[in-house]
Amino acid sequence: MIDKLVIANRGEIALRIQRACRDLGIRTVAVHSVADHDAKYVRLADESVCIGPPAASESYLNIPAVIAAAEVTDAGAIHPGYGFLAENADFAERVEQSGFIFVGPRAETIRLMGDKIAAIRAMKQAGVPCVPGSDGPLGDDDRANLAVANDIGYPVIIKAAGGGGGKGMRVVHTEATLRNAISLTRAEADASFNNSTVYMEKYLERPRHIEVQVMADQHGNAVYVGDRDCSMQRRHQKVVEEAPAPGITEDQRRQIGKRCVEACKKYQYRGAGTFEFLYQDGEFYFMEMNTRIQVEHPVTEMVTGIDLVKEQLTISFGEPLSFSQDEVVTRGHAIECRINAEDPDNFMPSPGRIVQYHQPGGPGVRVDSHVYNNYVVPPYYDSLIAKLIVHGSQRSEAIARMRSALYEMVVDGIKTNIPLHRRILSDGGFQRGDVTIHYLEQTFVR
Ligand code: ADP
Repeated sequence: MIDKLVIANRGEIALRIQRACRDLGIRTVAVHSVADHDAKYVRLADESVCIGPPAASESYLNIPAVIAAAEVTDAGAIHPGYGFLAENADFAERVEQSGFIFVGPRAETIRLMGDKIAAIRAMKQAGVPCVPGSDGPLGDDDRANLAVANDIGYPVIIKAAGGGGGKGMRVVHTEATLRNAISLTRAEADASFNNSTVYMEKYLERPRHIEVQVMADQHGNAVYVGDRDCSMQRRHQKVVEEAPAPGITEDQRRQIGKRCVEACKKYQYRGAGTFEFLYQDGEFYFMEMNTRIQVEHPVTEMVTGIDLVKEQLTISFGEPLSFSQDEVVTRGHAIECRINAEDPDNFMPSPGRIVQYHQPGGPGVRVDSHVYNNYVVPPYYDSLIAKLIVHGSQRSEAIARMRSALYEMVVDGIKTNIPLHRRILSDGGFQRGDVTIHYLEQTFVR
């Protein structure tokens, strides 16, 4: 077992990893930027190392600085959290080449899943259902491209292979506009991502976002740990997540879970991972695999009682999974609201001093947050300040508890999206479940 670990992240996830380490008796090193110097969670770590100025590019994304911090503190492992370097294959490689354990999959797996076209191909080969599409890059032959689109059926979506964050995509409804759309997307992709490769997929018009959590160890064991619905999104950013996904039958759950597990085994996946799917008319369509712990992992923890971060750590230290598929039992329903420092009406970031902070409590309530009275939300990073998570014996109880928790929660001094969450939780469409990925923008954004 490793006795000291570097947490290469900040905010709530840095604190979350710290807690898991403490449970396991592992000492922690918080690496932080100048902007996070006074944060309480940094003080709570056993050691801390300042790795650079506020700008993430010079601190949290600075690979040599992170590795040097592990060297000077004599740590044995590095946990990347989510965001920043978590899905950077070069980072994972350099961590291991420097003699540290990387808490995550092997670099080559990260690289494979980071290449959209290669990832889809790999998943198809493993029997994971994918969106009907061009099966690889589109060429320059217009007639061939038209034939692909006719085969798939309109509408189709042209996507940049190097795209990310929902950028570099164009929906095409008719044959007449296909040629132009391909060349426009190609030119944009070349300019923005320095990669002109584009591919084509069937465009799903009213999908939900459903994802499957997996855990796999280094001894060939892999399990799925239930699913989550994250359809409530704005600009491809998740706002509310829940587990299990409403309206999915046990049979569907088992089938898609098994496919994911088989893919993990085929590619010798290691650690925590998430298969993201679009779901429409009873069918799952693979979108991408996230090779890290996700922001929304607590809803899965709440319904299964499994500590996913602890499991991530012990797996990376070489231990086998601590539970089998049969031992994954889901109980009740959990919901997470991402509380962001932003204007609830126009979504502009709202950094600054929190003058009063009061977090809710009561049965089934969990808050993952690094903030407190007088904490200053820095303007340099993402705006997530807290994750409010509730558990209930069924979905209706979870909704009632979340409404009550949102009513109790106080964050004064900055603007937050708590008012938006209150509206979402009171909304009939949300309460019925079964909303598409477009619902939040259609219903709550003016
Ligand atoms: P990125 O890497 O930019 O996030 P994705 O391929 O994951 O790109 O797609 C981003 C978002 O675009 C998805 O979350 C989904 O909302 C939408 N999208 C992608 N592909 C399709 C599709 N075939 N049909 C409908 N919506 C899609």
